[in-house]
Amino acid sequence: MPEGDTIWRTAETLRAALHDKRIADAKPDTLKRFQGRTVTDVKPVGKHLLIRFDNGLAIHSHMRMQGAWHVYETGQRWRRPQWQAKALLQTEDGTQAVCFSAPIIEIVKDENTKLGHLGPDILTDEWSIEEVVANARKSNNNAKTIGELLLDQRVTAGIGNIHRCEALWQRRTNPFKPTKDLTDDDLKQIFETARQNMQRNLHTTDTTTTARSRPAVHARAGRPCPRCGTRIQVRAQGEQARLVYWCPACQT
Ligand SMILES: [Zn+2]
Repeated sequence: MPEGDTIWRTAETLRAALHDKRIADAKPDTLKRFQGRTVTDVKPVGKHLLIRFDNGLAIHSHMRMQGAWHVYETGQRWRRPQWQAKALLQTEDGTQAVCFSAPIIEIVKDENTKLGHLGPDILTDEWSIEEVVANARKSNNNAKTIGELLLDQRVTAGIGNIHRCEALWQRRTNPFKPTKDLTDDDLKQIFETARQNMQRNLHTTDTTTTARSRPAVHARAGRPCPRCGTRIQVRAQGEQARLVYWCPACQT
């Protein structure tokens, strides 16, 4: 699943390709209204991506597991089959931005009304831990486990499954612990750990796994915990049944 840091890198690539460029061709037909329009901004908001235009509209895309934006020059061979293309924007100078397999790609009028349900983006400078803890303490979150809370984009936007598993392991916290049993300091440390990990990934331009930090628990079920040697466990958690990985011995 593309996490917040991946969306940021995608946004940077798209911004370099599209910013201040006029769109010469757009597909499918629903995007034809952007022909002749200029891209004013490419903005990541949590796991969402907005491409904004000078007509006050934006293309909102959400990648989920399978979606991706690629940038190509005209004539360059696409790395994914054409039938997976959901949207194409071609600039006057021949650059193509192609969105593959995104489950959500839609035209939105005002990002604030559309994405108003999202908490503060974990990768922005304005991010405030106090605001995140306040969001976490809202009454409907009390019964929630900390594992579910970290993925709740209304608390803070951008944390995906890898970073929630890793932050909980680093803070020795069991993912099934109810949020109400954690202190404000516990919550601050967990969210700040996730943020630091994501910022580190953001500033690593090399995308190989060795250059980016290797997960301690994520996708390592049955293998030994790097800290204590106990076998890592995995279980589906929450309404969306996302797989959570943890060490049963040192995350109590
Ligand atoms: Zn362990």
